[in-house]
Amino acid sequence: MKISDLGEFNLIEKFSQRFVQHLDPGIVGIGDDCAVIPWSKNESLVVTTDALVEDIHFIKNLINPQDLGYKSLAVNLSDIAAMGAIPTYAFLSLALPKNIEMKWVDLFFEGLGDLADEFNVMLLGGDTTSSKQAIMMSLTLLGRALTDDLKFRSSAKSGDKVCVVGNLGDSAAGLKAIVEKKDLNDDINDLIKKHYRPRIYLREAQWLAKQKSVHAMIDISDGINSDIKHVMKKSNCGSLICLDQLPTSEVLKRTCIQSNWNLNELAVDGGEDYGLLITVDSADFSEMNTHYKNIFGKSLHPIGQVTGQVGELEYQMNGSRCHLKGTGFDHFAIGKLNEVKNGR
Ligand code: ADP
Ligand code: MG
Repeated sequence: MKISDLGEFNLIEKFSQRFVQHLDPGIVGIGDDCAVIPWSKNESLVVTTDALVEDIHFIKNLINPQDLGYKSLAVNLSDIAAMGAIPTYAFLSLALPKNIEMKWVDLFFEGLGDLADEFNVMLLGGDTTSSKQAIMMSLTLLGRALTDDLKFRSSAKSGDKVCVVGNLGDSAAGLKAIVEKKDLNDDINDLIKKHYRPRIYLREAQWLAKQKSVHAMIDISDGINSDIKHVMKKSNCGSLICLDQLPTSEVLKRTCIQSNWNLNELAVDGGEDYGLLITVDSADFSEMNTHYKNIFGKSLHPIGQVTGQVGELEYQMNGSRCHLKGTGFDHFAIGKLNEVKNGR
């Protein structure tokens, strides 16, 4: 058996079995966006780590080093946001081939440093090694939160509204444009920027964390088709998603028409948007959304609801049931977007 037969998430599930048992009270281990370690009476430490690997997550001569530095921190900030926490300290492990230009390394740290400054993150350590060929960076990010404010994948309740913060599909379309070497114009440049410099919704997440009517939260890193399933699995529920309500940008809509790309496939299955998916008590949604809109100038996007049909993910389009081929991003599975990503 190969790990591609198992897939990324089954693999994690398999090896994590022995490590998720017998944890001290209050500790949350493998299985959410961050691990949680109780810190003081009211506060918890949260920890996440994410790696970027050359030719899997990026192609060196297609991404500029500042953007790569930005992204190596951004993907971790997104997991801290998903818990409703505040980022604090970072540790960076770097593997670099010996012949890499010093200028490239300087620019990488410039991109990382600028984003770290924006969110008051301090780099406190790491490790540096040489590599035979591929560049690899793994960043570990710590954060803190009031324990009562933490949001988990496991707290969705049947009847909740499923809502999204941010648009879906832009990043995947940007990646598609890069891979297919599309002619550049303002729209394509915009989508490529969304892929290389995803916006991280930390402030929104910290506000949502304070709302008792927000039950579950996860960041959308692998595409909602995949990320909603993580919530369903951990919360022991099902969900109904209305494809006609998915938030997509005007730029993406235009580009899909012009390029004959499938908007729904990109929005549902495209990863790396790094928005948020939350479930909200439906009785409180309207009032909470009004407050949210007053503060952030935009509404939350309701896209469906949590159901009691455990494990069942139903898609609807204009009120009728429909089926999707998509799988979300899995590092070891062989799917449509995976082929694009891994085949770059
Ligand atoms: P995310 O997309 O939010 O970063 P992942 O899907 O990468 O989360 O991982 C899911 C869960 O599995 C997380 O809790 C993560 O810490 C854990 N995990 C993933 N890979 C490993 C590993 N190699 N060792 C231990 N835990 C892991
Ligand atoms: Mg995550």
